Amino acid sequence: MKIRIINSLLDVLYPPICKVCNAALFDNEVDICLKCIKDMPLARLEYANDNDADRLFWGIVEFEKVLSFMNYSKGSPYTHLLLSLKYRGDKKMGLKLGRLMAKQLPKVFFERIDYIIPVPLHSSKLKIRGYNQAEWLAKGIQMVYPIPILGDALIKTQATPSQTTRGVLERRSSTPHLFTCNPLYELAGKHVLLLDDVLTTGATLIACREALLGVEHLRVSALTFAISKS
Ligand SMILES: [Zn+2]
Repeated sequence: MKIRIINSLLDVLYPPICKVCNAALFDNEVDICLKCIKDMPLARLEYANDNDADRLFWGIVEFEKVLSFMNYSKGSPYTHLLLSLKYRGDKKMGLKLGRLMAKQLPKVFFERIDYIIPVPLHSSKLKIRGYNQAEWLAKGIQMVYPIPILGDALIKTQATPSQTTRGVLERRSSTPHLFTCNPLYELAGKHVLLLDDVLTTGATLIACREALLGVEHLRVSALTFAISKS
């Protein structure tokens, strides 16, 4: 009761605003207003292999399907959603965005998945951030589809500087053996979904896919919340 009164008081003093457009939220809205959800710059979401995300990997590594949910460019107000999730400790944003993807992407994309593997952070980065944002996106998907999450099926073996400070070419050429597959899991014959927040050059997903190459008859799909268009 006390907490509810305090929350109501806080709402009066600091009314909750949309994290995208800063408009005051209505009672039925949380974090993002309905208009911003409706206007989200969605990527091509059909269950097809010729979308922009899938095309990044043609001739490099084999994926069953690759989808990105939202187009994202520098300066877009939707950037705030990813900044909240990644740098402002807003784990719940991961739940929200993961759930949103699961509800809007074709059901068939998730029905064929045995495990979700969130792209891992290096242990040093995990220690600083305290959580893996991709894992919270996975938990959001799990609210719609009860697919087991294997948070440590891949292990990041090298710490890499933030991609935001590095050039595109450098990113693509500096990622071999960045990840290793955890032998504790029996993934042969399974279909796993690699999950990450943003797709830029594709270097991270390529390195993850390469780490799984030794697993027999493994099928790998990939999903990111956003695909960079800048
Ligand atoms: Zn809004």
